[in-house]
Amino acid sequence: MKSLKTIEHIITPPPPHMVGDGFRVHSFFPGGRLIDKKRMSPFFLLDYGAKIDFSPSPEPRGVGVHPHAGFETVTIAYHGKIAHHDSAGNHGIIGEGDVQWMTAGSGLLHKEYHEEGFSKTGGLFQMVQLWVNLPAAYKKTNPKYQEITHQQMGRHILDDGQSFIEVIAGAYKETQGPAFTFSPMQVYNARLQQNAISDLTFPAHYNTGMLVIEGNMEINGSMVATDHFVLFRNEGEEIQIKATENSIVLVLSGEPINEPIAAYGPFLMNTWPEVEQAIRDANAGKFGNLE
Ligand code: MN
Repeated sequence: MKSLKTIEHIITPPPPHMVGDGFRVHSFFPGGRLIDKKRMSPFFLLDYGAKIDFSPSPEPRGVGVHPHAGFETVTIAYHGKIAHHDSAGNHGIIGEGDVQWMTAGSGLLHKEYHEEGFSKTGGLFQMVQLWVNLPAAYKKTNPKYQEITHQQMGRHILDDGQSFIEVIAGAYKETQGPAFTFSPMQVYNARLQQNAISDLTFPAHYNTGMLVIEGNMEINGSMVATDHFVLFRNEGEEIQIKATENSIVLVLSGEPINEPIAAYGPFLMNTWPEVEQAIRDANAGKFGNLE
C-alpha cells in the first residue's frame, strides 16, 4: 500500500551570492541541510535566482568563459532571458518559461549572459540552474544541447481545467517530457491556480525535493512559502499539493546514482585523478576555444 512521503526539512533560502555579475543565486545544495553531496542525486546542485529587478545595462551582465565536465547543466528561465555561447559553436537564447538542458559530458567551455534585449531594457529576472550528475558510463559522452521551449513540454491538465503539470523530463502519468536523460528522473513545473490540488507519486527510494517558485501551498499538510525548498525523506510515495494561491513549484525526483563523487569547481567526476585530468584537458585547450 502506498503512503504519504514525509517531509524531512523545509529549507529557507540561504543568503544569496553572485555568479559573475548577472546571476544572484541562493545555493540550496550541495551544502547546508544537504551537505551530503549525494542527498539529492542525480541532482547535484541547485542554484536558485529568486526574483530580482535588474536595471538597464548596455553591457549584458553574466558570467564569462568557463569549463564544465562530467555532468549536465539545466537552466530554467522563469522571468527574463539568458543567452549562451559554447566552444562547440553553439549559441542560443533561453526565453521565459524555457529550459536549456546542456550535457557537458567530456567537457566544453561556455559563457552565460543576460540576453541583449533584456539587458538593455532591464526588468524582472528569475531562474534556476540545476546540475544533474551523469552515471560513470556516460561521463565522457559528447557535449550537446537540448533547447526545450515551454510549448514543447508535456502538459497534463488537472481537474480544475486550468492548472497543469508541465513535464520537462520523465513522465507524469501518461504525459511525457521532451528532455532526454541519462538516468531515470522526473522534472516538472506544477503550475497551479488557487485551490488546485495535485497528486504526485514517486518511488520511495527516489530522492525528491520541491522548490516553490511562486505563491504559497500546502504540501502533505505543511504550509510552504515562496522561495523555500522542501526535502522529502526516502519513505512513502505520495505527495499532495494544495495551492492556497496561484502557484508554481519545481518538482525534482530521481533515482540516486550510487557511485563515488569527486567534485571540484565546474568538474564532477567519480575520482580525483579524473578531476585532475579534466583540469589538465581544459588547460590544454581540449575543451575547445571560446572568446
Ligand atoms: Mn556554466
